[in-house]
Amino acid sequence: MPELALQLSLMALEAALAAAVLLALFTTRRILGLAALYTTVGVFYYLATLLASTTFVGVAPGLLASPGSVALFPASLFAVLLVYIREDAQEARNMIYGLLAANLSASLLGLVVAQHLRSPLAVNPLSLPPELFVQSPRLFLVGTLALFADTILIILAYEALSRVLRPLFLRAWASLALVLALDTLLFVTGGFVEHPAYRQILLAGVLGKAAAAVVYAAALSLYLPHARAAEAPAGGEARPGLGDLFQVLTYRQKYEALRAQAARDPLTGLYNRGFFDEMLQAQLAQARRGGSPFTVLIVDVDHFKRINDSHGHFEGDRALRVIAQALVGVARASDIVCRYGGEEFCLILAGTPLDSASQLASRIREEVPAACARAGVGAGTRVTVTIGLAACPGDGRETDALMRAADARLYLGKQAGRDRVVAA
Ligand code: GH3
Ligand code: MG
Ligand code: MG
Repeated sequence: MPELALQLSLMALEAALAAAVLLALFTTRRILGLAALYTTVGVFYYLATLLASTTFVGVAPGLLASPGSVALFPASLFAVLLVYIREDAQEARNMIYGLLAANLSASLLGLVVAQHLRSPLAVNPLSLPPELFVQSPRLFLVGTLALFADTILIILAYEALSRVLRPLFLRAWASLALVLALDTLLFVTGGFVEHPAYRQILLAGVLGKAAAAVVYAAALSLYLPHARAAEAPAGGEARPGLGDLFQVLTYRQKYEALRAQAARDPLTGLYNRGFFDEMLQAQLAQARRGGSPFTVLIVDVDHFKRINDSHGHFEGDRALRVIAQALVGVARASDIVCRYGGEEFCLILAGTPLDSASQLASRIREEVPAACARAGVGAGTRVTVTIGLAACPGDGRETDALMRAADARLYLGKQAGRDRVVAA
């Protein structure tokens, strides 16, 4: 009996150690990056599969459990859950693909390295069987499918259970135990259904993993509240409760949202001048490396001052929004549409030479008055635009040359009576 207690304590210790190591690596991810965590998870996973096919201990009369599947395998799902909760779904997805790639490649390499042990030249002091490195194709297939399903299911289960189970520990335990039970069912059925001890293996797996899930869930529920406190911005907004975990955008998503917002013009929602300049630089750099031609359009509203003067600034603003939408409507998905400033808009038409760009410009020239008429902008006054075009490389390979050329043509268009497209 003391031996049984020892074996069970060892498994609990293994689970606790794995959880502690992963949490430590996760906490230091701003220094080490997530790579340290991911590498460790991959190695734990390999150790788990190795143990699961070699090492079993009796944990109750007639019940055998492997420390690999019971204590160590849940570490992978624990890590996926941790990354999903504290980073984001994208990071969790990266990790899932990493685990699958590692599993796949280790299994393939196993086939090759086993050939060393089969060689008469091999020196094998521990007398390891070559089969140790060769998974049966069936177990491999079942294992890989189960792993993929698990990593997705753990996230779905956690999300779904979050609505019904408030306490973090219960949520984490229930989702881990549920997915681990499904995994055991899938894996043991796929691998051992005709085995005489099928039921015992299944039962031991489900019970053992449910017990291990207690350790991992405890680790998670001890860690997360502290993680939240430690990572909250200093003197920042009030901290949301743990119940809000999924309502709160992760830091990375917040950062991306801020970045996207910083590139936009608040009135029209189009990209702003800063973003336009960045994109133009990028296009020019690409063109210099031998990339495809592109064209820049400057679209200036004709006599815009009159709309403001006769209908007020608000109506002017509304006109700008309607015109912006008209531009977006005519442009293709790959075109970049910006508000350059005031009542001037700029477009970058990537991969478009001057002649096809002129056609698109003509469509803009027709669509803007039509859209303004439909929206009743300026109480029936016809709102028109003048457009100047310049193409790279034809009109220049530098920002200044290109913008000057487009602006000069815009000016020519204004001189010639407005409401026109000038491309040469
Ligand atoms: P032109 O045909 O020569 O381009 O004449 P215009 O009146 O359009 O040109 P001008 O540059 O003289 O006037 C532009 C006007 O656009 C002046 C300014 O008050 C107005 N404007 C600039 N930004 C905004 C804005 O955000 N909202 C509104 N309502 N008006 C703006
Ligand atoms: Mg102007
Ligand atoms: Mg104008």
